[in-house]
Amino acid sequence: MALKIYKHGRRDQMKVALTFDDGPNPPRTDQIMEVLESRAARGTFFVIGKWVERFPQAFKRIPDRWHLAGNHSYSHQAHIGDYDRAEAVITNLTGRPSEYLRAPYGNLFTCLYSPLALSPEIKIVSADVNPSDFDKTDPREIVEATLNHPALAAGSIINLHDGSETDDDGLRLSRARPTLEALPLIIDGLKARGFELVRLDEMELVEPVEWEPEGDDS
Ligand SMILES: [Zn+2]
Repeated sequence: MALKIYKHGRRDQMKVALTFDDGPNPPRTDQIMEVLESRAARGTFFVIGKWVERFPQAFKRIPDRWHLAGNHSYSHQAHIGDYDRAEAVITNLTGRPSEYLRAPYGNLFTCLYSPLALSPEIKIVSADVNPSDFDKTDPREIVEATLNHPALAAGSIINLHDGSETDDDGLRLSRARPTLEALPLIIDGLKARGFELVRLDEMELVEPVEWEPEGDDS
C-alpha cells in the first residue's frame, strides 16, 4: 500500500510552519517556545516517547502554551517503528490522539509496521525546508540555510531540532543551542517576507507525495 507524505501546505497562503524534532529537551524546548511567543509565532514539536516519559512536565508545557505536539516515535531508532508505543505515552498526558507523525531519519519503512502510522487518522509529515541545523554549530549558518533555502515559499514546513539524537546524551543541550540562537533571526526574516508562523494544524496540508516500498508494484 502507498503512504501519503505531506511536505508542505497550501502555496496560496502566506503561512509557514516551524517544526522542532527530538524533544522534549528542557530547558531548550522551553527557551524555543519563549522565542516563538516573544514574536507571536507558534511551533510544532515532534517529540520522542522516551523523552516524554523522562520529562513529562516539559512535554505538557508544549500544549499548555498553545503549541502543538506530534509523534516522532518512542526510541528514535532508524529501523523501529515504535510510534504506537510513543502514542500511548503521549495520549496518557494529553488525553487526545496525535494528529501528525514524523518518521525518524525520514525512514518511511518504519511506518509500515505501525497501525498508528497506517491509520487514516494521522498525517505523516516531513518538510520541504531542511536546513540541517543538527549539523551546524554557527547560528548564522542555520539562519542562512533556512532563509536562503531554495524551497522556502508560502506553505513551507521547516524542519529544525530542539533535541539531538546521538550516542552521547550529554550533547543534547549543547547541540540544540545554535538553533536556539538562530531562531530569533529566522523568525524575524520570515516575518519580514510577510509569512505568518503557524502550527501544522493551522495550515492546510496539500499535495502529499505517495510512497511505497520498492518491489511492491502490484
Ligand atoms: Zn528526529
